[in-house]
Amino acid sequence: MANMNNNFLNEIRNYIYVTDRCNNNCQTCSYINTSNKILSLEKLIKTRKNNISQIIFFGGEPTLNKKLHEFIVLSKKSGYKDVIIFTNARMFYYEKYTEKIINSGLTKAVIKVFSYDKNTHETLTNIKNSYDQTLEGINNLSKHPVHISLFITITKLNYKGLVNTILFYTCNFPGINQINISLTKANQENKKLIPKLSNIRPYLEKALEFSKNKNIDIQVEGIPLCFLNNYEDYSFEARHILHNEVEATEINPFFKIIEVNTLKNKKSKSDICKQCNLNSICFGVWDFYNEIYDLNELKPNENNLKDVKTKIKYYYTKLRPVIKKYY
Ligand code: SF4
Repeated sequence: MANMNNNFLNEIRNYIYVTDRCNNNCQTCSYINTSNKILSLEKLIKTRKNNISQIIFFGGEPTLNKKLHEFIVLSKKSGYKDVIIFTNARMFYYEKYTEKIINSGLTKAVIKVFSYDKNTHETLTNIKNSYDQTLEGINNLSKHPVHISLFITITKLNYKGLVNTILFYTCNFPGINQINISLTKANQENKKLIPKLSNIRPYLEKALEFSKNKNIDIQVEGIPLCFLNNYEDYSFEARHILHNEVEATEINPFFKIIEVNTLKNKKSKSDICKQCNLNSICFGVWDFYNEIYDLNELKPNENNLKDVKTKIKYYYTKLRPVIKKYY
């Protein structure tokens, strides 16, 4: 594995956990009821080093903290260039609230959606009418010069609709700049939601092919490279390892640096991986996957490591500058 400079990575952004409350009740949630501690914004701002340009607000649902706009203003004043939130966007249903947050200095919103289909979305959020509010929230945010990144968590309930979901959001909301697809990170309670990799493969391939043809900036997380055959360069983890780490983490902002650095500890691999050409840049499957499914599904990837590196380099140097509006 490439040698990662962890100290450097830890110094490029700050994360601030602003609330443990949420107006959704997602079946996939891994943030609420965790041991996350609410950090002191004052302390973060006072200790900000010049090379830290990004601050990320997450929770729970950060918009439920009534002081969020003040936090954003303070962050900008103290020198953070990018102010990012990880949100379900429901509060942006309210235009005045949207304007207040944008005017405070928000630069990027990472918005969690599950499906184009209202029923599927609301089954996973566990809240009626959350779909309509999220859609209107995306619409309102799209009226402003803010980077919008969608985050779609793949579960057993939504993987078959992946292409339709991408089609629906990118057609209806042209302000969307990026799509992230992630296999659900399960815990003991919700591991029944994890889909089998072999089952999602054809849907994932279609989604990637569709996005590639449409020049949609897309990446996937939590999928072993043997399930991304010929699309290995769309893997967040492979991008992270192979490219400049600052760039790679920047495109998936709510992915905590600490998680990146300990990512390998949260993943499992099989003995067969030792025979794989891409073993050094693949992290295998998330924890819990191997409690449900057999790792016999994993098959050595015969593609050439050098070719994958070349494709990732091409993405960063040629493709990304063209397909992104706000980087
Ligand atoms: S065989 Fe193992 S190392 Fe190779 S792509 Fe699959 S999970 Fe990754």
